[in-house]
Amino acid sequence: MSNTLFTNVNILDGNAEGRIAGEVSVADGRIAEVATDGAALARKDHRVIDGGGMTLMSGLCDAHTHFTWNSGGSLDALAGMPVEDHTIVAVESARILIDSGYTMCVGAASAKERIDIAARDGINAGMIPGPRYLACGQELATPAGVLVYGITREVSGAEEMTRAVREMCGQGVDTIKLILSGESITERVWAKDTYMTDEEVRAAVVEAHRVGKKVLAHARSTDSIKQCLRQGVDVIYHASYIDEEAADMMEERRDEIFVAPGLHWLYATLYEAADFGYPQEAAEAVGYKDELEHSIIGLKEIHSRGVRVLPGGDYGFAWTPHGTNARDLQHFVELLDFTPMETIRAATVLGGQIFGRPDDLGRVAPGYLADLLLVNGDPSADIAVLQDHDKLVGIMKDGSWHKDPAAAGM
Ligand SMILES: [Zn+2]
Repeated sequence: MSNTLFTNVNILDGNAEGRIAGEVSVADGRIAEVATDGAALARKDHRVIDGGGMTLMSGLCDAHTHFTWNSGGSLDALAGMPVEDHTIVAVESARILIDSGYTMCVGAASAKERIDIAARDGINAGMIPGPRYLACGQELATPAGVLVYGITREVSGAEEMTRAVREMCGQGVDTIKLILSGESITERVWAKDTYMTDEEVRAAVVEAHRVGKKVLAHARSTDSIKQCLRQGVDVIYHASYIDEEAADMMEERRDEIFVAPGLHWLYATLYEAADFGYPQEAAEAVGYKDELEHSIIGLKEIHSRGVRVLPGGDYGFAWTPHGTNARDLQHFVELLDFTPMETIRAATVLGGQIFGRPDDLGRVAPGYLADLLLVNGDPSADIAVLQDHDKLVGIMKDGSWHKDPAAAGM
């Protein structure tokens, strides 16, 4: 691993108010120094990259990732996919995500039980390219609340929940995923309905927290959101139907919880799935328009109350393929009225926090791991630039290039 010095870059740190011109040095995988006062950092023993005014920022975080979703038309096909083939799908997803500028991904269910774990370990060992990854097991649902048969572990009662969580933690997962509410595209279990009891949720949280693992929950209904808040779930996914009481409960626990709505899933399922056999009328008929509208109102409210809302979510369907994850950032600006800087903070600084490594990940500051993007553009002015992979001139993780700017003649 060689040392790198970025000169003539506009530094975009998620905790700043905007870009600041300067220099950044990287040594031994970490950011060593950041100079924004016009000072020149030491050139000796460094490869010097003249950024030509490009943006240098942290790699992005996707807060709800499924390496094992194959960007196909339906998740039903995943159940019958042989595990060997399925593992290759996960390896491919991991590469696509880091190619897209994502260096932090929170695993939010693995279609087969050990694929996420193997992928994470392969990435960490340097055997395959990919983002830092929190590995998940299969999603846990009650027999009445399964979203996708064949890729779900069914549990009924607190005792079965404890056993399932123990097994998964024993296998080495980082996260536990619970399915509390339905998903209306199934036309069987519904977004406004709740299928797990408080006792079952509690059992999962107690056992996971006992061994330091995070609990993530698919929670669209109002009741399921409140269950998460009552029972200590760490990450609330979707949170479509936040009412006044739920917003109050979230505000009270805002330093402990994260909310990741997965906005692009709602948006694209409603407006962009027609070419894949799911016309807008069908999506509206089961309530996706109503759900998107409610989500926007609730998410704006909790954002105004300081609840941590993160982009990313559920990519890996035909109409939301892996690699298009930065669409979520645009939705934060256009639908939720986040400023571009608030959005960048949510996708970087809060990524470090959801990983439980706020002093290691998600910032361009001395001491942080050198997970960096060199962007030919200014995301603080145009957030959509992050969707254009050609503009991601350099992608660095742990101080080593995944995408070397030398390929762009630098
Ligand atoms: Zn999901």
